[in-house]
Amino acid sequence: MLTDQMELEPAEEHRENHAASPPACFTPKQRDAVYVHPAQLPNGKTVKLLKTLLSSACERDCFYCPFRAGRDFRRATFKPDEFANLFIQLNQAKIAEGIFLSSGIAGGGIRTQDKLLDAAEILRRKLGFRGYIHLKIMPGAEKAQVERAMQLADRVSVNLEAPNTERLARLAPHKQFLEELLRPLRWVEEIRRNQPAYKGWNGRWPSTVTQFVAGGADESDLELLTTTAWLNKNVRLSRAYFSAFHPIRDTPLENKAATDPLREHRLYQASFLLRDYGFELEDLPFADNGFLPLPIDPKQAWAQMNLAERPVEINRAEKRELLRIPGIGPKGAEAILKARRTGKLRDLSSLRKLGILADRAAPFVLLDGKRAVQQLSLF
Ligand code: SF4
Repeated sequence: MLTDQMELEPAEEHRENHAASPPACFTPKQRDAVYVHPAQLPNGKTVKLLKTLLSSACERDCFYCPFRAGRDFRRATFKPDEFANLFIQLNQAKIAEGIFLSSGIAGGGIRTQDKLLDAAEILRRKLGFRGYIHLKIMPGAEKAQVERAMQLADRVSVNLEAPNTERLARLAPHKQFLEELLRPLRWVEEIRRNQPAYKGWNGRWPSTVTQFVAGGADESDLELLTTTAWLNKNVRLSRAYFSAFHPIRDTPLENKAATDPLREHRLYQASFLLRDYGFELEDLPFADNGFLPLPIDPKQAWAQMNLAERPVEINRAEKRELLRIPGIGPKGAEAILKARRTGKLRDLSSLRKLGILADRAAPFVLLDGKRAVQQLSLF
């Protein structure tokens, strides 16, 4: 299901990826908090990431959320020092190497953010934890809190959930898109641009990500990707996560149909084309209703429309042209440019040796002036 080198990092934000058992001595509350799964960090390293909430109690009532106020289930709340000590036990037992910490909101976004910051501060300053921390910025957090989070975390995030104000109103009527969600993302970028990086954790400012609930508000792919493209350019978003909507029992959206997971996959592919492959929104093959076709990956669809009759000469193409060819990702394009310095590439096997998905590229390329000859499988 992957498109050439558009590898999907295991989604840090996905809600259901659980693994690893907590120590037997943990209380039920501690056991409830322990969800550890492997995640790839921005530097490519994979770590066992503890993904948890400081509190699963929330005063807000987002329509899609299992933690929404009034929903009947057992909730757990940690004090910041209690949580920091729990994590350090897991870290020392080699169960968790990094942490992704969020929280339900209690007493407002500012108060909740303070607790998250206190937990991170205790981990960093008192307990000496130097590993990966991803901190969630709460809706309504203040700029000084955002800056403090950036001094403690490797990554910070604000979940926009929906692509614009109108769509958010259908998912989370008490969240304010511009003031509570988009503004903190803009502050992060403002701080990164205007203040020296040595002020950030470990001498670097953190990366930023966001998440959308795909299909929760009947939004189109065009709406989601328009906002993603804007965020890439204006707040240097590292990546957008798309979480296919699935209905949760006992919520206002419990009878709404789940989103096809293939749509989530296509959104990821399209977002990588925007971020890493030089595609613009208008290059993406949206149908008139603003949705990407599900049966075909967006890069393949673009190539069929634009390259099938005008194949690209592999030995002369610029990097941006190579990146448009299915089967060639950023690493493959670099490998081609390097290999061309020592001689011509004349057949598909030489592309394969460079790690390229040559059969996928074949219909759209010329090799030394000739259409590529695909070897048919005998079986
Ligand atoms: S604020 Fe967060 S935890 Fe609370 S209901 Fe909304 S999505 Fe759920």
